[in-house]
Amino acid sequence: MKTSIPAAKISAASIQWDSQGQPKSTEFDDVYFNTDSGIDESRYVYINPSRLTERWGAHSGTFTLLETGFGTGLNFVLTLLEWIKFQESKPSIKPQSSIKPQPSIKFQHSHHLHYISIEKFPLDKQQIKSALQLFPQLAELSELLTSEYPLLIKGFHTLHFKDKNVSLTLIFDDVRSALPQLNGPIDAWYLDGFAPAKNPDMWTDDLYQSMARLSRAETSLATFTSAGDVRRGLKACGFKLNKVSGFGMKREMMNGVFIQSQGPLANKFEHIKPWLSPRNIPITNIAIIGAGIAGCTTAYALARRGLRVTVYDNNGIATEASGNPQGAMYAKLAAGEATHSNIYVQGYLQSLRLLKQQLEPGDGWDNCGLIQLASSEKENTRQKKFISNTDYPKELLHSISQEEASAISGLTMHCGGLYFPHAGWVSPQRLCQKLLEHPLIEFEHQVVDKIHQEPNGWSLSTCEESDNHIGHVSHVSHVIIACANKSQHLLPDCYLPTKSIRGQLTYLETSSNEYDTNNFASQLKTVLCGKGYIAPAHKGKLCLGASYNIKDDESEMRLSDHKNNFKYLDDFGQEFKKIQTELTELDNKDYLGRTGFRCTTPDYLPMAGPVLAEKDFESSFTAIRKNAARYPRQAALFMDGLYLNIGHGSRGLTSAPLCAELIASYINNENFPISKEHAESLLPGRFFIREMVRNKR
Ligand code: SAM
Repeated sequence: MKTSIPAAKISAASIQWDSQGQPKSTEFDDVYFNTDSGIDESRYVYINPSRLTERWGAHSGTFTLLETGFGTGLNFVLTLLEWIKFQESKPSIKPQSSIKPQPSIKFQHSHHLHYISIEKFPLDKQQIKSALQLFPQLAELSELLTSEYPLLIKGFHTLHFKDKNVSLTLIFDDVRSALPQLNGPIDAWYLDGFAPAKNPDMWTDDLYQSMARLSRAETSLATFTSAGDVRRGLKACGFKLNKVSGFGMKREMMNGVFIQSQGPLANKFEHIKPWLSPRNIPITNIAIIGAGIAGCTTAYALARRGLRVTVYDNNGIATEASGNPQGAMYAKLAAGEATHSNIYVQGYLQSLRLLKQQLEPGDGWDNCGLIQLASSEKENTRQKKFISNTDYPKELLHSISQEEASAISGLTMHCGGLYFPHAGWVSPQRLCQKLLEHPLIEFEHQVVDKIHQEPNGWSLSTCEESDNHIGHVSHVSHVIIACANKSQHLLPDCYLPTKSIRGQLTYLETSSNEYDTNNFASQLKTVLCGKGYIAPAHKGKLCLGASYNIKDDESEMRLSDHKNNFKYLDDFGQEFKKIQTELTELDNKDYLGRTGFRCTTPDYLPMAGPVLAEKDFESSFTAIRKNAARYPRQAALFMDGLYLNIGHGSRGLTSAPLCAELIASYINNENFPISKEHAESLLPGRFFIREMVRNKR
C-alpha cells in the first residue's frame, strides 16, 4: 500500500510587470488582476456570491473554502478581511481571563476557516509582496501573508494565522493531481485559473468530477467564467448554476451550488481508501495520554481549533525522550525515498512555523543552522546523490564545502556537508510547556492506567502519581494515545510493532578547562551532525549524543556509553578530535547527561491517525489477502474516537507537529494538512494491513 510521489521539479511563475507594476503571467499571457478594480472584482465574482458571512454565521466547526489558482493571494487576503470582520462582529469565544477554565465549563466549538489554494506556478514571496503592494489598503494583511508564505517546494504547506482562527493550506501542484489527494469536505469553491481558452488543461471533466466528490450538500461555487464547456461539465457533475452579469466589461459569469442528489452516485470510497475515513463522532471532551512532544503538539492543534483537551502524564511535561535539553531539529532526508523525504520536509517546515509563533529565539530554541557533515565517503556519496536527485531551494538546504563548513560552524571542520540554514536546536520541554499554556488545555499529573471503550466514548482509569490504586474514572468522547513505548500497555490487543531504542546523552561543561584549554568549545556556532550530534553551548554545557542501544532498558547512565559518545567527536572537526583521547581517558569523571528511550517503527515513519478495530477489519477486509487493490467498498471499522500519535524515533521535533495537525483534522472532519497518500503512510494500522496483504495473519 506504500506509494511514493517522485520529487518532481516545481515551476515558479514567470511574470512580466507592466508600467503600472501590474503582474502578468507569461505562461498564460493573462493578467492576475486588474489594478484599478482588482478588489471590487474579487468581491463581485467570488466573495459576495459565496454568501460567506451569512453561511459562517450558520455554520459550526471548520468552514473550508478551496480556490484553484492562488496567484498573488489577493482573493485570500480579501476573504481573510471578510473573516476578520465576521469574527469581530461575534461575541468572543475565547476565555477572557488567563485563568484556565474549569473542566466542568461546557465545551465550546469555535469557528475556524480553512482556506485551501492550489497553485501550479507559484509566485515567490517577493513577487507576492510586489503584487499586493498595489493595494495599500490591504497592507497589514498582505504583510501577514508574506511573513508566513512558504518556500517554493512542491506539495502541501499549511500556515496557521495565530489568533485569527484561520489556516491556509497552499498546495503547490497542478489542480488535476492535487484534488485527488484531498479528503474533503469543501464548503465553497472559488473556481479561478486563467480563462478556459488560455488554460484548457485545467478546465477538464476530471476537475468537475473531483469537485463533486469533495462537495457536500449546498457547497457553493463561484467563478469568473461562463464558458459553455465549463457550464456543461459542472452541471453533469451535480452543480446547479446561475449565469449572472459579469464584472465591468465582462458579459457573464457563473455561480451555483452542489445538489448532491443530482451529482454522480458518488461512492465515498472511490476517492478515499476506507482506512482513511474513520466515522466522525460528536466531540464532547478529549483526553491525551502522554505530555511529550507528540501529546503536547496534538493538544495544541486541537485547542487552537477551540476544542477543550486534558493531557495526562504521571511524569510531568516532556520528561522522557522529549526531555533532552537540546534536540537537533532538521529534516534528515533519505536519498531516493520520496515519501519519507516529503513528509519530513513538510514536517520540518511546519515545526519551524510553530516554533516561530510560540517561542522567541533564545527561549528554548536557537535557529543557529545545522550542518549534516559528509564525514565518510559513504555519506559524501549519499549527499551528492541526494542533491542531484532533488530540487530543494537553497534556503531549505544546500551543499557546502569544508571551508564553508568551518566558517559557518566557527571551528575547523574536516569536510563539508549539507547545510540547513534555518535549522538548529530546540528544548522540547520548553516548547511543550509553552504549548500547554493554551487556555483550553488542562494538564493532569496522573497515570492513566486503563482505557475502556463504552457505548458513547471512552472511560479512563487514572491514579495519582503517589499511590498506585485507581483513583478516578473519567469519560471522554476521544482519546489520543501519545505515550511512545508505553502505548502498548494501554492497547494490549492492538498490533503496535514499535521498538524502544535507548539513547544516552553526554553534557560537556564549557567552563571546564580540563579538556578545553583553549576554550574553543564555546565557539561552536551551529549544530553539527555526523554519526552523533553536538549543539552549541547552552547554559555552559554542550550536549553530545546520543547512543543507540537496541534491546536495552537500562535507565541509569553508563560510563561506557559516555565513552562511545566521545567517538562521535571524530566527525566534528580538528578541535573536538584533539580532545577526544583526553576525554576518553578521564575514567573517574562523573559525566553529566541523561538517558531516554526513542520509540521507532519498522518503516521509520510515525504512527499517527485513527486506530483500526483489527478483528472487525480482518473479517470484513479479508479480500485484501488475495489482492490488496480489491478492497471492499465499505467503511473500515475503527475504534471510534481513538487515535495514536507515536513512533517518532529521534525525529519528534520534525514530525510531531505535522502529525498533531493530521490527527486534529481527522477528529474535526477537516481536510488533511498532507496528501491522502502521505496520510496513508502514517496510518497506525498500516502494519496490520501489510501483514494481512502478505498473508502473515
Ligand atoms: N486567485 C488569484 C489571486 O487572487 O491573485 C489569481 C489567480 S490567476 C488569475 C490564475 C492562477 O491559476 C495562476 O496563478 C496560475 O498559475 C494558476 N493555474 C493555472 N493553471 C493551473 C493548474 N492547472 N493548476 C494549478 N494552478 C493553475
